[in-house]
Amino acid sequence: MTRTLVVAGHGMIGHRFADRLRALDTARDWRIVILAEEPHPAYDRLALSTYLGGRSRDDLTLAGRDFLADPRVELRLATPVARADRTVRVVVTQGGDRIRYDALVLATGSRPFVPPVPGRDLTHCFVYRTFEDLDAIRRVARPGGQGLVVGGGLLGLEAAYALSRLGVRPHVVETAPHLMPAQLDPGAAEVLHRRADELGLRLHCGTGVAHVHAGPDGAVRAATLGDGTTLDVDLVVFAAGIRPRDELAKPLDLARGERGGFLVDALCRTADPRVWAIGECAAVLGRCHGLAAPGYAMADSVAAQLTGRDAQPFDRTDDATTLKLLGVHVATFGATVHPGDPRPVEVTFADGIARYAKVFLRPDTGTVLGGILARDTGSTSPLRSLVGRPPPADLERLLLP
Ligand SMILES: Cc1cc2nc3c(=O)[nH]c(=O)nc-3n(C[C@H](O)[C@H](O)[C@H](O)COP(=O)(O)OP(=O)(O)OC[C@H]3O[C@@H](n4cnc5c(N)ncnc54)[C@H](O)[C@@H]3O)c2cc1C
Repeated sequence: MTRTLVVAGHGMIGHRFADRLRALDTARDWRIVILAEEPHPAYDRLALSTYLGGRSRDDLTLAGRDFLADPRVELRLATPVARADRTVRVVVTQGGDRIRYDALVLATGSRPFVPPVPGRDLTHCFVYRTFEDLDAIRRVARPGGQGLVVGGGLLGLEAAYALSRLGVRPHVVETAPHLMPAQLDPGAAEVLHRRADELGLRLHCGTGVAHVHAGPDGAVRAATLGDGTTLDVDLVVFAAGIRPRDELAKPLDLARGERGGFLVDALCRTADPRVWAIGECAAVLGRCHGLAAPGYAMADSVAAQLTGRDAQPFDRTDDATTLKLLGVHVATFGATVHPGDPRPVEVTFADGIARYAKVFLRPDTGTVLGGILARDTGSTSPLRSLVGRPPPADLERLLLP
């Protein structure tokens, strides 16, 4: 172990990266020092809601015994990086420890965005990202009570479903006209809306939260929406998006993307050849990605680079996602956002309002660009191979099997 790698952040992507590096570093060149802000090793954030359903912190941990026992790995919990000096290649922890690095990988993730509405700091206003957030919600959730979830994207729906399982009736407010506006078109969202109704979620789309009100005890009592509706709720969960945690850009004197995040190229390299950024904190070619799969691709690429292997540049054209929300499989594959001209040809298949699929075709060649699906069952993996080809004769059966 002749070189020291420092990883800032032990979330899902920092862990994937360290684990991948361990596997690829057959020459055992690297000593890996992971500086983690949270007091526990990385856990499966995707499955965080199952923690409210009874799974333990240990069940969700990603760091197995072999990882923790590896003499090459030094995991320092509750030890955030506070600053760094690139000229002497040293990071400094909040406690004042100084660690010299040969390579530094920033994997600091995101923080929840809380819109600046009056009352957002009241007792019983929460966010939804860590074990501690969920513990706090569980302590307050009162069966038979009502809660408001701000945001109808992936996170908001997770939070609303979790509240309903705690016996709290969730209202969901979303400023866009339909749920999951970043991934779905109105047709696909309709399938989700129907399922949300069945589960007792009360949707308020096309408006936002305007004010959170306190009761005499200073805790949340009600919330007023932009359309004037007032809801009697005793807790509010903000799930209105995330912002990259790029606080270290300033002390490290590294550039940020236009919307935040450490600015990196397609190989996740900052302007400093010894510093990389991966996961949600990385603005790859200027854009941050808020899902796990792109982060894994970044982690694998940097692990390959640090072990002298061919590395895949990050491909930002394919934002494929597969999610299971409220029991509905929602998937996108290939390119689903098409700014500018020529507009793609859209072909829609719907099966009542239980299943929905749309594909985008190139107007000149007729080949598949990508697609959106909302349906209850079936694997979506064969669909990615459609991209770049003419649609097969049995396209409808493939999309809605
Ligand atoms: C409830 C929930 C459900 C989700 N479901 C899905 C899903 O179905 N599919 C999907 O693709 N994605 C999902 N996501 C998103 C996914 O979890 C994230 O994309 C992924 O966790 C990002 O990993 P990361 O390592 O970049 O960030 P994180 O997992 O946030 O890890 C970053 C870590 O860095 C630490 N840190 C920050 N600053 C410092 C510092 N200065 N020093 C040291 N440590 C620091 C943080 O405390 C944190 O532990 C979900 C997220 C949530 C919250």
